Amino acid sequence: MNSKNKTLRIAIQKSGRLSEQTLELLQSIGLKFNGYKNRLMVQARNFDVELLLIRDDDIPEYVQDGVCELGFVGANVTLERKADVKVLRNLDYGICRLSLAVPKDSGITKAEDLSGKRIATSYPNLTKQYFEEKGLSVDTVYINGAVEVTPTLGVADVISDLVSTGGTLKANGLEELVSILHSECQLIQTNRSVSPEKQELIDKFLTRMEGSQQADRSRYIMMNAPTQAVDKICEIIPSLNSPTVLPLADDNMVAIHSVIPIEEFWEVMEQLKEAGATGIVILPIENMIV
Ligand code: ATP
Ligand code: ZN
Repeated sequence: MNSKNKTLRIAIQKSGRLSEQTLELLQSIGLKFNGYKNRLMVQARNFDVELLLIRDDDIPEYVQDGVCELGFVGANVTLERKADVKVLRNLDYGICRLSLAVPKDSGITKAEDLSGKRIATSYPNLTKQYFEEKGLSVDTVYINGAVEVTPTLGVADVISDLVSTGGTLKANGLEELVSILHSECQLIQTNRSVSPEKQELIDKFLTRMEGSQQADRSRYIMMNAPTQAVDKICEIIPSLNSPTVLPLADDNMVAIHSVIPIEEFWEVMEQLKEAGATGIVILPIENMIV
């Protein structure tokens, strides 16, 4: 257990696909660190937080055992390790899938064709579970890395591996057969008890993350519009609060400001133009407390 009573300990991947975006996320919620390169532990300068920089495979156990209260790690690792932790947030990066892939021209077209085959994987638990649920019996071969070359080497017939674009599979003469798990980076919390001081820090941390994630999903929109079009325009804008309407030097015109969800951006833009809005400006938002 993390014996330090006040400092919140967070495990992140030391060096790999999740490292950069995790550090960016921590910095975007205001945490400042000095020289985290080549170090195992780093203290934040301005928040009672300490980062533990380790291999992603070790993160679920460290969080499960309470060595760290929080961790940033792919769902694929937490599920493979069957770690007893709480998932607090899905983070929308490190997106990939665990997929079965077969050599091109193998004639295999569905999972049922794999009965009795040898499957190389770094994810034996998730792979076995998939086949057990289908009632199929396969032979899994555990390989730690470079799983995609095993069919060429004759070590396995099929692989079960992480895929994002599919480029690595293609380069190795493989094609994706079926995806067995969607994964993304998650924030996980220990199920061990945490002191009230640390729980307060966790809550503060989550509020900041919420603000940052909401800001990423939103845009600030500004435009000018004829005064008589204000009601129509306010109806079009899908904002949480009513838009701000400001007078302009020209009595017949007003400026309208609001915050909109990014996914509605294009549709809203077109409708606003049709309703008479001009000079529409869209800005990214640094942070937001709703
Ligand atoms: P470590 O040295 O920390 O053990 P690693 O080699 O196991 O690193 P990375 O390749 O850096 O791990 O991948 C870390 C995580 O990134 C994966 O567990 C997964 O959640 C996610 N990820 C996203 N896309 C991919 C992909 N195409 N291949 C592998 N992992 C991916
Ligand atoms: Zn790893």
